[in-house]
Amino acid sequence: MLDAKGWAAFDARSPMKSHRFQRRDPGARDVLIDILFCGICHSDLHQVRNEWAGTTYPIVPGHEIVGRVAQVGAEVSRFKKGDTVGVGCFVGSCGRCDACKRGLEQYCEKGAIGTYNAVDERGERTYGGYSDRIVVDEKFVLNVAAKERLDAVAPLLCAGITTWSPLRHWKVGKGHKVAVLGLGGLGHMAVKLASALGAEVTLLSSSPSKKKDAQRLGAHDFAATSEAKKLGPRFDFVIDTVSAPHDLNALASTLRLDGTLVMLGASPEAMSLHPFALIMKRRSIAGSLVGGIPETQEVLDFCAEKGIAADVETIAAREIDRAYDRMLKGDVRYRFSIDASTF
Ligand code: NAP
Ligand code: ZN
Repeated sequence: MLDAKGWAAFDARSPMKSHRFQRRDPGARDVLIDILFCGICHSDLHQVRNEWAGTTYPIVPGHEIVGRVAQVGAEVSRFKKGDTVGVGCFVGSCGRCDACKRGLEQYCEKGAIGTYNAVDERGERTYGGYSDRIVVDEKFVLNVAAKERLDAVAPLLCAGITTWSPLRHWKVGKGHKVAVLGLGGLGHMAVKLASALGAEVTLLSSSPSKKKDAQRLGAHDFAATSEAKKLGPRFDFVIDTVSAPHDLNALASTLRLDGTLVMLGASPEAMSLHPFALIMKRRSIAGSLVGGIPETQEVLDFCAEKGIAADVETIAAREIDRAYDRMLKGDVRYRFSIDASTF
């Protein structure tokens, strides 16, 4: 086994702390990665605090990983020592079901294996990117072309792909009016990516102080979330990235004929929706889960080509708890990225 050190939660309430643990020895198809940076996703917070239920402790979170290849197994063909690589939200899937064959491993019929808080095909628990190194099957390792600001590239592995996947699925582009609800990690990537794809983007935010950033990030317009009802039907898509319960009826009312409300935010609590909010304009409501390996590579390449990355505040491991508290208050512009040399 391989010694690793990282940062872990041991229950839902106590501060997280430094943790030494073991990972499997790299096998023939595995890549050993020295982690450089790992982004902090709100999903990490939901799971550390057991808000979705089902957390097994200790948990080492982190699924926005960028690092350097330290070693490759004998059968690894796509990577060599020294390559810059990324790992996202899952590190395994069956590879045989319809979803896996379509490159939609996140929807694997047997269940994709999460990068953390999961059990892999060997029956071992998975531990994520809040750590110094990780061992991953090469099928789930991404090529990172960007060479600079890797702290800002790390969030593309979840916030980037999670917003890219629905934009591509619904073929969002020129001529579409898109609203992004919530300007946090996912929201700011949704604004950047939707505008880079040619859509006209409006930011809906509960924080008036974020108005001045909206335009810089690529939004064409800004409105307060509390005013949503007054906007009337105008958007083709609403990309909802809010992490807590909110008024879906008001949000649906902003969609024009055949508009789609795409749920990305994973509120632990249910929300209600009146049937008439959908019926009157043949509106749809949909959800979307991260993105598959081919489209994760696609968004990394797209961002490298266009010079797009996340806006990050890079922190040391000991600042993680404080970062969680600040994220809950919407006080992050717009993603925390952990410097892995501090674990
Ligand atoms: P985040 O950085 O905390 O951003 C969430 C934003 O939502 C906040 O910045 C805030 O924006 C707004 N917000 C938060 N609480 C609110 C409330 N009570 N009412 C109204 N607005 C509120 O979180 P994130 O990392 O972007 O993640 C967002 C959600 O997506 C989380 O639930 C996460 O688990 C989920 N997620 C889902 C997937 C997926 O595959 N579907 C993948 C990753 C994450 P404003 O200040 O602008 O209002
Ligand atoms: Zn995430």
